[in-house]
Amino acid sequence: MSSLRSELPDLKKWWDGLSDVYSRTLQVVVERLFDNLKGLSKLKENGYGVCHLKWKPPREFRRFTYSQSGFKLDKKGGQTVLSLSKLADIPIRLHRAIPDDAKLKQVTLKKEPTGKWFATFGVEVDRVPPKKPTEPTDVVGIDVGILKYVHDTDSTAVGSLDLSDERERLEREQRKLSRKQHWSNNYEKQRQRVAECHADLKQKRQDFLHKLSNYYAKEYDLVAVEDLNVAGMMQFGSNSRNRASAAWRTFLQMLEYKCEREGTHYVPVNPRGTTKECAACGVSSEKPVWVREHSCLSCGFTTDRDWNAAYNILVRGLKKVDIGAGCSESAPVETALPTGTGAVPAKRVIEAGSPVLTARSA
Ligand SMILES: [Zn+2]
Repeated sequence: MSSLRSELPDLKKWWDGLSDVYSRTLQVVVERLFDNLKGLSKLKENGYGVCHLKWKPPREFRRFTYSQSGFKLDKKGGQTVLSLSKLADIPIRLHRAIPDDAKLKQVTLKKEPTGKWFATFGVEVDRVPPKKPTEPTDVVGIDVGILKYVHDTDSTAVGSLDLSDERERLEREQRKLSRKQHWSNNYEKQRQRVAECHADLKQKRQDFLHKLSNYYAKEYDLVAVEDLNVAGMMQFGSNSRNRASAAWRTFLQMLEYKCEREGTHYVPVNPRGTTKECAACGVSSEKPVWVREHSCLSCGFTTDRDWNAAYNILVRGLKKVDIGAGCSESAPVETALPTGTGAVPAKRVIEAGSPVLTARSA
């Protein structure tokens, strides 16, 4: 890498255009290229088929980075201006305030398919994330699903986001695009409209996931979720489930870093059998997807299917972090819930002597 970087001055003599670009920006491109190559060779080592790199014409080059130097953020008469060395002073709209104590490290400019440019700032802040409580009192287990987006142990159920209007609009604009003459002006205009629909959908989805994950990270001390990375979870049958699992992954990634930021325990657990297992007695029974109620043949415990799953996830999560372990082993978890009870959330664990849930009900 260093050799190619040292060749940059020579390359500039060979190709004039390079001299018009801020030098650090070129170095970042070289670094990124080598990072990518390293990633690819790692894949190759692990037995994946790796093809050749593809040539990208300049018009497909839609992202560049200023790192460490060459850029400045300023206010000029109420307008925020991003000054880029060798390029321009660009008036920008800050969607999010940059903290006063933050050190600007880099800025990446990216052109979206809608034609809009976005600047992403990398900042460094001296902030130690809050410590995670050793005895979490507000704990929750979350089950993700298709009919309901999430269902947790506090019986909060959040439905999936309804984006049917947005999808309809996208399809309408796509149909219009298919009737336009390729590469005509009208085609280009319509292509942008389609890109805007895509961006709108994406933004609404992201917004929903941010709000949801923020809620859990802020409201709770411990969040137990299904670990979707566990082998076997990848082989979902239908396409819709595949798509849904991609969204759950995004949700869980957001949840994880937000928990880290808020000082909340984030506990992914093995999801195998969480829907089949009875929250009251632990006996597993087969349950087709359309059966929305959990009704245990073994102990008679009846509850909502998703609540049952969320509860099993929470129990596994608490076991995994081993918080309050050794405090009381008086009653085995499995026998704590009286047979035949219809509800009583958390009862099983309370009676099993977990200080965690005892504190919560107090
Ligand atoms: Zn049971």
